[in-house]
Amino acid sequence: MKNIVIFGAPGSGKGTQSDLLVKKYGFKHISTGDVLRAEMKNGTELGRTAKGFIDNGQLIPDELMIDILAATYDSLMPAEGVIFDGFPRTIPQAEALKDMLAKRNAEVSVMLELDVPDEMLIERLVNRGKTSGRADDNEETIKKRLTVYNNQTAPLIDWYEKEGLRRAVKGYGSLEEINAELCKVIDSL
Ligand code: AMP
Repeated sequence: MKNIVIFGAPGSGKGTQSDLLVKKYGFKHISTGDVLRAEMKNGTELGRTAKGFIDNGQLIPDELMIDILAATYDSLMPAEGVIFDGFPRTIPQAEALKDMLAKRNAEVSVMLELDVPDEMLIERLVNRGKTSGRADDNEETIKKRLTVYNNQTAPLIDWYEKEGLRRAVKGYGSLEEINAELCKVIDSL
């Protein structure tokens, strides 16, 4: 079974590429952002807690996120593969993911990093905001999210490099080109 972490800044195309990989390989997809948005839509307590952080461009606390991730993962089993999209976002989350999988006799197969220059990220997110209906896709919150990414999430690049799991791919150009590069890596696993 493959456990694939798709990694990149907000707007790097993780969700779009995950959808293409799900179609091709039949993997299950865990987007922690989608899980939280569904909770917000349903007006649950978790949704209300999450909203305060999300609307501010901040991360939900690790302990909460780790519980949500484990519950979501278990609800999708058995599976041929899982794509983790938007998780981990901090080093404690990456350690927790490793532990959670180890307890289930599994491991992360690869971390696929989508590299996109900052100016392109802002442009993509501002454009997405015109149709996404996401309260966090406005210029002010986008800038905060990129700062949070650089401070709290980007250190995972080195972390996964040290684990020997990091594979970086150019995250701009046509969707098909990017997808082909990701598939090459997955097929080589
Ligand atoms: P995304 O859809 O992945 O861009 O996530 C939207 C927002 O949800 C983020 O800006 C965070 O506030 C929150 N979020 C999603 N995943 C995580 C995570 N793994 N850890 C903490 N916060 C998260």
